[in-house]
Amino acid sequence: HPMELVDFCTRSVEQMNVTTGDRHHIRLIAHTEKISALMDSQLLRQILNNLFSNAIKYSPQGGEITLELNTESRPITPNLQQPESLVVFRIKDPGIGIPQQDLQQLFESFQRATNVGTIRGTGLGLAIVKKCVELHRGHIEIESEIDRGSTFIVKIPLQTPSYDVMLAEI
Ligand code: ATP
Ligand code: MG
Repeated sequence: HPMELVDFCTRSVEQMNVTTGDRHHIRLIAHTEKISALMDSQLLRQILNNLFSNAIKYSPQGGEITLELNTESRPITPNLQQPESLVVFRIKDPGIGIPQQDLQQLFESFQRATNVGTIRGTGLGLAIVKKCVELHRGHIEIESEIDRGSTFIVKIPLQTPSYDVMLAEI
């Protein structure tokens, strides 16, 4: 059953802002009014909550965090017979950033970057996020600059026909 992502993200952001209080604020920037997608709402909640909590944890108090929502279409290639619509989530923070040489391992369990200092964590959040993204045949990447901030970019096909099969694999 399809879900509507703009409303869902609006509620997720509001909920996170209430829980976090005044220390941080997340702003939603939606480039379209409605996005209908075949996604699992619990998995999407896992993705957003983990990325929001990282953005908050690794950013200075008062810094603005944004969730940008957009759609994109992937052109036809030899492997792709029809153009495919994707939803793109960009979670951007003004935080400590991630050293280039640490980026590759961060999606593995218990891996943390070398610049975390005294900020606590177990290193599981991003491993969970990656799993949830892959269950939707999606893709995640990071753009980051030390001491300037990070952007986590998640792209997920709007139609995921084999999704139920993939869920059964967990
Ligand atoms: P937890 O399991 O509680 O989420 P964690 O936050 O340390 O612990 P992950 O969420 O998996 O673990 O993140 C892995 C590592 O990636 C973090 O320890 C941190 O080094 C780095 N990281 C993740 N998100 C950010 C971010 N927004 N800014 C800077 N570094 C980040
Ligand atoms: Mg985390």
